[in-house]
Amino acid sequence: MSRRNDFDVAILGGGLAGLTAALQLGDERPATRIAVVEKRSHPVPDTAHKVGESVAEVAAIYLKDMLGLEDYLAEHQHRKMGLRWFCSNGDNRDISERVEFGSMRYSPLYNFHVDRGALENHLGELVAERGVRFIDGARVRDVEMGGAAHRVLVDRNGQSEEIAADWVIDSTGRQGLLRHKLGIGIDLHIDTDACWFRIPYQLMVDEWCDDSAWRAQVPTGTRWKSTISFVGEGYWVWVINLGSGTASVGVVADPRYVPFERIRRYDALLDWLREVEPQLAGYLPEDEDQLLDFMKRRRFAQTCTRSFSRDRWAVTGEAACFVDPLYSTGLDFTAVGNTLAVDLITRSLDGAPAAEIRARVRSHNRTMAGLLTFSTPTFEGQLGVYGDPQVTGAKFIWDNMSYFSIMLNMFKNGLIVDPAFGKQIQDQLALNTQMNSYMQERFREWSSEAWDARSAGVPLGKDAFWGDLFFTAAGTLTRDELAAHVETSVARLHSISREMVVRMCEAAGRPVPDDPFAHVPVARDDLLEWAAYSGERRPFSLEDDSEITWHVHPAPLSAV
Ligand SMILES: Cc1cc2nc3c(=O)[nH]c(=O)nc-3n(C[C@H](O)[C@H](O)[C@H](O)COP(=O)(O)OP(=O)(O)OC[C@H]3O[C@@H](n4cnc5c(N)ncnc54)[C@H](O)[C@@H]3O)c2cc1C
Repeated sequence: MSRRNDFDVAILGGGLAGLTAALQLGDERPATRIAVVEKRSHPVPDTAHKVGESVAEVAAIYLKDMLGLEDYLAEHQHRKMGLRWFCSNGDNRDISERVEFGSMRYSPLYNFHVDRGALENHLGELVAERGVRFIDGARVRDVEMGGAAHRVLVDRNGQSEEIAADWVIDSTGRQGLLRHKLGIGIDLHIDTDACWFRIPYQLMVDEWCDDSAWRAQVPTGTRWKSTISFVGEGYWVWVINLGSGTASVGVVADPRYVPFERIRRYDALLDWLREVEPQLAGYLPEDEDQLLDFMKRRRFAQTCTRSFSRDRWAVTGEAACFVDPLYSTGLDFTAVGNTLAVDLITRSLDGAPAAEIRARVRSHNRTMAGLLTFSTPTFEGQLGVYGDPQVTGAKFIWDNMSYFSIMLNMFKNGLIVDPAFGKQIQDQLALNTQMNSYMQERFREWSSEAWDARSAGVPLGKDAFWGDLFFTAAGTLTRDELAAHVETSVARLHSISREMVVRMCEAAGRPVPDDPFAHVPVARDDLLEWAAYSGERRPFSLEDDSEITWHVHPAPLSAV
């Protein structure tokens, strides 16, 4: 039997993207009649549910501040201590001998590791409490688009149901229902594979070495709370400890360096890890049946030609795009996509003129496309770089500077949805994108066999560098302040880029190329210092009592 229900918005897929979109829509426009259709039955398993457990700063602001989940996250999930990278050194048997990038203290920006199932269960309850019709255990078979209302055809318990809705949001994740139906999918040229698994205990990396000096470098003794990446040529391995007392471990690899065969089954993976990451391998279960799960995926980077349409549909979450997990930006894209979709839908339901909706659709599609155009070179063909700690250091600084100074502040201050603001700063954003592409090419070049720029040292951000990034994003900026901050940030990125290029070329005995961005102002902030490679164990100590200081642990690099 077929029943018909009328809603303002039907959300296809009740994973993280769909459930947060429902919550955000309901918060911003309480009268909205919303249905969420989710294939799986709730409650789902708390842990070992889905991949995507590390929450970066944009998504953390979205979840805790915009959706009001701060108390829930603090009580039930794991507060993360930022990113922590261990570069390869020699045989990787001693964590204390590796070059380490990571914070000595918690940054003022909260972020989290989440047990995805627990979070989705909580969100499912929350949306239902707020009047959303959450239809779990139900599969969307098709959507008939157009007409006065879209018709969503749903199968549940052997029955068919039809939902009529003004707007449809596709958040079916990888399945990408509308992406396939409308033929709007594109594969990005990022050739990486991944596998991941969950284990029933945490990996306490602080205890992997008895060296008290090494332990004392992070006085809180909480390296294990970071999103940890063990990086090497052509791969990185994540360790994400979770609030449930379990850990998620995953490998992302470029098949030119690590054939998929080596990671696609747990036994093969463990053999490979014993070769390249023997210390980590020693802490992992011997047999697959001791794991909570084991998953794999080939070439996961994809997107859509557009995410929003004046024909009253939107695509968000992984259905809209996923580039790369390295900086945990998957949920950031979800936060931005949902926020743009909610802006459009609430205006449309409130009767905004068609011309305004058309203009916003264009602008929001440009924003998503701009983010992707900016981000893609950061990951495209970049895994080879991670065999070289010096270039890894340069890239780490560069990538973080771009993320924290511009994207995070635009999102935090609510201006990512403002077409006029986007227009105002579009030249700065275009420059930022061009400089990023240029620098990502340099990182690939510098990490090639033909280059030896070791005498340049490893670039590090001074306290002022990190302080500016973290504290600016922790505060609020007015529209004018943000416009000025974007301009300053682009000037800073320019000066950092120039400093890196000149120093690396001179150290390698190569001609210094002309500056393609000579027309861009330079900020004379002197934000970097360069640590020599040496056997000295020299964490950068706190010079004042500021909350944050980043340190590198420059170990002798026997590998180079
Ligand atoms: C290897 C890897 C590592 C990652 N690590 C991170 C990370 O650390 N941090 C991060 O932010 N992101 C990460 N991501 C990205 C992250 O996993 C995704 O961004 C996130 O899971 C997307 O959530 P979503 O709600 O869009 O999709 P999903 O969580 O997949 O939800 C989609 C939902 O739609 C439902 N569905 C599908 N089809 C139908 C249908 N026909 N009818 C009804 N329901 C349907 C599914 O059951 C599912 O619940 C990673 C991705 C990969 C591949």
